[in-house]
Amino acid sequence: MAPSQSYEVTVVGGGLGGLTAALALRHRGIRVTVLEQAGRLGEVGAGIQTAPNASRVLLSLGLRHQLEAIHTEPQDQVRRRWKDGRIVALTSLGDHCKDTYNAPYWHYHRADLHRVIMDGCTDPDGPGPAVRLLTDSKVVGLDRTDPRRPTAVTEDGACHPADALIGADGVRSRVRDLMGAEDTLVFSGEMAYRALIPGDLIAADPATRWLVDRYQSTIWYGPDRHLVHYMIRGGQYLNVVACVPCTDDVAERWSAPAAPGELAAAFPGWDDRVPAMLSKAKDDVSRFALYYRRRDPVWMDGNVALLGDACHAMLPYQAQGASQAMEDAAVLAEELGAVTASGIEGALRRYVNRRATHAGMVQDASLRNKTFYHYPDGPLQEERDARLRSFEGESDVSYDWLWSGSPLATPDLGAFSYPFAR
Ligand SMILES: Cc1cc2nc3c(=O)[nH]c(=O)nc-3n(C[C@H](O)[C@H](O)[C@H](O)COP(=O)(O)OP(=O)(O)OC[C@H]3O[C@@H](n4cnc5c(N)ncnc54)[C@H](O)[C@@H]3O)c2cc1C
Repeated sequence: MAPSQSYEVTVVGGGLGGLTAALALRHRGIRVTVLEQAGRLGEVGAGIQTAPNASRVLLSLGLRHQLEAIHTEPQDQVRRRWKDGRIVALTSLGDHCKDTYNAPYWHYHRADLHRVIMDGCTDPDGPGPAVRLLTDSKVVGLDRTDPRRPTAVTEDGACHPADALIGADGVRSRVRDLMGAEDTLVFSGEMAYRALIPGDLIAADPATRWLVDRYQSTIWYGPDRHLVHYMIRGGQYLNVVACVPCTDDVAERWSAPAAPGELAAAFPGWDDRVPAMLSKAKDDVSRFALYYRRRDPVWMDGNVALLGDACHAMLPYQAQGASQAMEDAAVLAEELGAVTASGIEGALRRYVNRRATHAGMVQDASLRNKTFYHYPDGPLQEERDARLRSFEGESDVSYDWLWSGSPLATPDLGAFSYPFAR
């Protein structure tokens, strides 16, 4: 039975960060309204990885059985060289993560993960008050006439007062601007192709069959570009993220569809396994300009605070953006769950103190990977590969640090504990 709190929180944005925060606050007995601008809550058609630091948060929210039903588990993380596919380094995932970090490394279809968290928010039998989810609710204003009751104003003129307001509205956060925080948005000069390739095409071709024989999380390193892929939905799709220098049209529009054949053509001269795989991507390949935010410790003002990409958008070069947002959610709920309405500002300050340095280090490490991943062949690349062979990590932060996550005061994993019955 969750404790009951007398105050209410508005979360702006129903992405993975906002919904995880809403669910975590619900577990603390707090009444939450989520305001989402879209007409329907959902996620882009792509995969997502949650390393143990994020899986631990999700499992602690009682989602174990739901996640077991939708996950795919990679056995290893593999790093390959662009030209010949040679393995540079291999890190065990699978049971190794569960045994070492008491939480798994799992892959999902984003839509599945989003749905599981959303169902947790609205489940009438869940702990605490069910979350109120309002779609078609684009926040355009913030009224702070009463600083203890920040009021989100939506496009239709509706006012949503609450005791605390959390801006989880993504990399182009409106709440961030309305709060008066600095403009920290930076264009990286790179873009990501995202594609879901049907698993039956992959399994049917002897040149790509290896991708379904053993599930792995794979990164190929090459000059100026890199390629990430892994299977999701138990082999239904191969999820591909391919990062390359950005074209002008995508930089301007933020996202745009790719022409047929463009993805495979973006990797000329790469090992034969790469075109064999990428040429199977036919429809629905999209290109997304990669923006990030400069590290900035100002995540709050009075009873308004930011979470997820709104405060620490990072390049996806460690697959940690949503995972860090989930860590934010867990810490935010711990702090808000421990105070009454008069203590909200202090709780938000403690939330920022516990999270900003940690997330900032992940932001910086992800940015450094932009150079580290993309060295041309030569001494720097050789030095990098030697380092990757002998280091459990992919930047200058170790997996041990990253996957242990922000320390939680009450890491209540509920029904979940390892080893699972397996
Ligand atoms: C190619 C790629 C691969 C990635 N892979 C991974 C990975 O494997 N693992 C990982 O952890 N992270 C990954 N990330 C990062 C991750 O996708 C993001 O960090 C994460 O989705 C951010 O979540 P969020 O909830 O903060 O923001 P968002 O997901 O952007 O959600 C913001 C929400 O707010 C809504 N909104 C915006 N403005 C308003 C407004 N004014 N009013 C109301 N609603 C509003 C939006 O519609 C949206 O629903 C990847 C990113 C990219 C680009």
